[in-house]
Amino acid sequence: HPTALPHHATLDAIDRAHLIHPVSPWRTHEQRGPTVLASARGAWLTDANGHELLDAFAGLWCVNVGYGQESVVQAAAEQMRRLPYATGYFHFSSEPAIRLAQKLVQIAPASLTRVYLTLGGSEAVDAAVRFIVQYYNAIGKPSKKQFIALERGYHGSSSTGAGLTALPVFHRGFDLPLPTQHYIPSPNPYRHADGADPQALIAASVASLRAKVAELGADNVAAFFCEPIQGSGGVIVPPKGWLKAMRDAARELDILFVVDEVITGFGRTGPIFACEAEGVEPDLMTMAKGLTSGYVPMGATMMSEKVYAGIADGAPAGVPVGHGATYSAHPVSAAVALEVLRLYEEGGVLANGRRGAAHFAAGLDALRAHPLVGDARHRGLLGALELVSDKQGKRGFDPALGLADRIFAAGYRNGLVFRSFGDHILGFAPALTFTEDEFAQMFARLKKTLDEVL
Ligand code: PLP
Repeated sequence: HPTALPHHATLDAIDRAHLIHPVSPWRTHEQRGPTVLASARGAWLTDANGHELLDAFAGLWCVNVGYGQESVVQAAAEQMRRLPYATGYFHFSSEPAIRLAQKLVQIAPASLTRVYLTLGGSEAVDAAVRFIVQYYNAIGKPSKKQFIALERGYHGSSSTGAGLTALPVFHRGFDLPLPTQHYIPSPNPYRHADGADPQALIAASVASLRAKVAELGADNVAAFFCEPIQGSGGVIVPPKGWLKAMRDAARELDILFVVDEVITGFGRTGPIFACEAEGVEPDLMTMAKGLTSGYVPMGATMMSEKVYAGIADGAPAGVPVGHGATYSAHPVSAAVALEVLRLYEEGGVLANGRRGAAHFAAGLDALRAHPLVGDARHRGLLGALELVSDKQGKRGFDPALGLADRIFAAGYRNGLVFRSFGDHILGFAPALTFTEDEFAQMFARLKKTLDEVL
């Protein structure tokens, strides 16, 4: 095969010996070795052995515009030639960073007027936490330091963001600064006691937030963080109206409302941001992934004028706000982001994604009838299948069976890449450029895979 890598065995051995793979069991990885990818085009990957795979997960839910977009490559190359680096530190700036900030303010909810450009999602969340602490100190409310988030939430793995994350492996053995983080139940229609009734589930979530704030004391609570749809927790799709209800409750409780759109942003759920679907205007918002479609690293933390002014006017005159990185507002990443944003709108990628969502929904819904599937859920091009051993009792599988690993391996053999969460949830996030034929191939391969492990 022309794209197979000639020295794959050597690469495999070097990887096992030297390259740390985060979020994998390190010793297991050494035994199994890596899956080395060689090239990609559109929705298709080719691995180092020349095996072709349909990528139903857009890399790590990030390559929203698909692989091989030549105009993105050109944007990066031109920017590298003209000005490969300009610090975002101090007063220096660059044209792509300035234009990107303006563009993000135009497309984000109207409440968000200020942009901090980061290296990715973890840094965006970390910055949001640091800015919120700074804000409450600056406005003379230093007791407001407790953060509330959702059980099964994922907000990256920086030292502060991993605390908001409520997935056990991100805490185990790390001694995180946990005392300032608190969690309320996830709005999971399939698993929550009130799940069958959307309005009851929304009311239960609001009641949990109120109860948690009452328990901690409103004077001590800084903010509520949430993903509009929890991604790494297993693609938990709350009922429509949930985000708006939580936003209204946070306002009433006098705590900041922070929406983490790292996965849901940039057309993943239909609109450019999930907030837009419910007219939600957060105090802060974090984003990454689809911002550059994974071609280069970049994220952003956006904030309201109120939060910005609190920090800007609270600092003693002339004293810097001490948060930043060498690669903040990187001009090459910003140039890539601008071209990716152009593709979403003028390139028709967003519109194609909205059309594709109907095929995606139909394919997942049809699998509800499969003997292994307990729940199929989706919004836009974000979806999951939850597998059960007993549909009535919603019981999962014994983790010792390693079901998800077996399904993932069978999928790979059948030329399909997706993701598994824990041992029983399969996640899907195809590129917004998927064609009708690619959806047909995706679901044929998925059905074959599920049948094989049955
Ligand atoms: N927030 C959410 C909702 C995420 O899904 C992720 C990553 O998957 C992050 C934050 C962290 O982003 P990154 O992996 O770019 O650091």
